[in-house]
Amino acid sequence: MRVGVGGSQTIRELGILEKLEEQDNTIYNHWKPGLSKENVLEIRKSQMTSDLFLSSVNALTLNGELVNIDGIGNRVNSTNFGPRKVILVAGYNKIVDDVQEAIHRIKNFAAPLNARRLNIDVPCAKVGKCVDCSSPNRICRVIVIHERRPSLTDILVILVGEELGF
Ligand code: SF4
Repeated sequence: MRVGVGGSQTIRELGILEKLEEQDNTIYNHWKPGLSKENVLEIRKSQMTSDLFLSSVNALTLNGELVNIDGIGNRVNSTNFGPRKVILVAGYNKIVDDVQEAIHRIKNFAAPLNARRLNIDVPCAKVGKCVDCSSPNRICRVIVIHERRPSLTDILVILVGEELGF
């Protein structure tokens, strides 16, 4: 299979990419070290037409909405339309009360940690919370809220009873 992987710490923590590679699947992983800018761009595009797209979600509400914030858009695009199958894996630490709390959690907890981990120069990486920046490196540019499964996309959400990602 051609397997796309979003920018997701959770998926990488599972160790599933190594197993899929052992089985000779083609993995579109733009976080692989040593890739050129052009390669990364091509991989991001390929994710959107993969047979299977794997990612996590930034937050899930008690009402069942999935909330994701993206800087480029390949991850959220791939959860809307394109891949033949989408599997989203989330630890229980991603559960929040509602959409408002989801956005607050993403911008004030997940984004600063992500920015630090990826060494992105944005204010939240330094102060630990969102200041609604205008940085050219801003990683919060698109908010996607799934109220229901997009009608032509086969999505499976796997909620795991342990902490995964952030
Ligand atoms: S808007 Fe800027 S400061 Fe706020 S979380 Fe996103 S990148 Fe960080």
